[in-house]
Amino acid sequence: MSRSIFSAPHFNDEAAAYAYIEARLWKDGRSCPHCGVVGQSGALKGKTNRIGLYKCYACRKPFTVKVGTIFEDSHIAMRDWLAAIHLVCSSKKGISATQLHRTLGITLKSAWFLGMRIREAMTGDANQGPMGGDGSTIEIDETYVGGKAHNRHQHQRGRGRGRDIPKAPVFALVERGGDVRAYHVPTVNGANLAAIVDKQVARGSLIYSDESHTTRHAASAFRSERVNHKDGEYVRGPVYTNTIEGFFAILKRGVVGTYHSVSEAHLQRYLNEFSFRYSNRSAVGIEDIERADRALLGVKGKRLTYATPRNGRPGAASLI
Ligand SMILES: [Zn+2]
Repeated sequence: MSRSIFSAPHFNDEAAAYAYIEARLWKDGRSCPHCGVVGQSGALKGKTNRIGLYKCYACRKPFTVKVGTIFEDSHIAMRDWLAAIHLVCSSKKGISATQLHRTLGITLKSAWFLGMRIREAMTGDANQGPMGGDGSTIEIDETYVGGKAHNRHQHQRGRGRGRDIPKAPVFALVERGGDVRAYHVPTVNGANLAAIVDKQVARGSLIYSDESHTTRHAASAFRSERVNHKDGEYVRGPVYTNTIEGFFAILKRGVVGTYHSVSEAHLQRYLNEFSFRYSNRSAVGIEDIERADRALLGVKGKRLTYATPRNGRPGAASLI
């Protein structure tokens, strides 16, 4: 029997966890987060010094690999962070805060905090360019997620019990053989969707959609074709939207089965999580370890601005 991935040193030993993260975030040299100078720092190895502490010779300030990342100000062990990132990245339908809490032996609050910050790391760069281009096929579609609130966490029982969570509209684009991008839109209308398509899809792409007015409008600036689901048509040669519908199926199974519905305030973060896993899927040659390493590269420059368990209670609807 093969050994568990979790027997690796960086999941068990704090110094190994720091070394693992440093090797990836400082691949091109150790950069000082205060002044930006690369390769002019040394480890502070005194007995009283924290693991992973360095001093910059240029600006004289101390730093660790956590500065300027989602790990900053966190007291959770880095080996637990790495284990949580691996679990989130390797669970196709996501992993709930209660499961992280039980599996890692951390508090539920910490588990919730980890989950939300890891979702932030899985969020693509806002400046990433449009996808597709000449010869590419993009499928677009809309769906609604959420709905009746079953099995809500015990913290939420009482006042909100049994209350329906309204379904939230989601619009998504997938490049066949490539990435998916999904957006929580306030209202589904042609103009809203067209604005997303114009920004996210490169000219020259061919777009497939269904027959709805809104998606047709969204693709109107592009070469496009559509299937008429209403007339019982689902596939016409290469014209189909099964790829994006497959993504929606995974998303819904995760939101209903793992997260038991998500609040609208956090929906985009969950969409980012599911999009990240899909875009970095094994079908395109990215296995669990590499997927987790890719998420790890996303920890830089991501700080959350909403209330966290340290400075306030997490939103009630978020502890699910
Ligand atoms: Zn410096």
